[in-house]
Amino acid sequence: MSMTSEYPNPCCRCGFCCISAICPVAKSLGAEYPCPYLSFEGDISTCGLVIPGTEKSMEFMGIGKGCCIKARAFKNGIENDFASLPSEIKQKLVQSLRKQGIGLERR
Ligand code: SF4
Ligand code: SF4
Repeated sequence: MSMTSEYPNPCCRCGFCCISAICPVAKSLGAEYPCPYLSFEGDISTCGLVIPGTEKSMEFMGIGKGCCIKARAFKNGIENDFASLPSEIKQKLVQSLRKQGIGLERR
């Protein structure tokens, strides 16, 4: 049986995944949490290892495969799958983490 590499919910580039943990690629380059390649323009996250429009780097980093986060999120006592939350909720959550300085390199 082969595992799927596509996820049903689109990625909104909120950055929650990268602000929460460092990925294997960054680790393999010797980086430590928080990821030094993560940056934000407004609410949109960018990975400094991805060369925009370069198919190989996009494929390698899993760009365009959908939201891969498997986490339970609770709102008003209701449990949701993080990946299926609306983009604005994901972005608000990341805004709050960023305000607290969580997951960002001190520059
Ligand atoms: S910003 Fe890039 S290098 Fe850093 S954790 Fe995210 S995907 Fe990995
Ligand atoms: S939508 Fe999911 S995969 Fe995309 S940046 Fe946010 S947490 Fe990461």
